[in-house]
Amino acid sequence: MTCKDIQKLFIPFIDDKLSVSDLDAFLNHMNTCKECREEYDIYYTVIMGMRYLDERQNISEFKLDSAQKLRSAADYLFKYRILRLEKYILLAVLCIGVVLLF
Ligand SMILES: [Zn+2]
Repeated sequence: MTCKDIQKLFIPFIDDKLSVSDLDAFLNHMNTCKECREEYDIYYTVIMGMRYLDERQNISEFKLDSAQKLRSAADYLFKYRILRLEKYILLAVLCIGVVLLF
């Protein structure tokens, strides 16, 4: 993905609407590209600031800063991968079990 593609994902990322593969590409890019990282920080602050003014009751979301948001997304991706791995292992164990039965 190019920087332009990544920057199109800022808003879906903030809204937690990225698919897992997009999220993966997004986070990878964020780790390597300083420009997008800075751009994202500005975006995040502006968008959250605007939302905060719009709906003052939603303060808790604003407490999460842009870096925390990135970390929680990386966390989510990590857990997702482990969960998926567990499913495959379970499936493999089931297959072996079935093979042994017959
Ligand atoms: Zn970039």
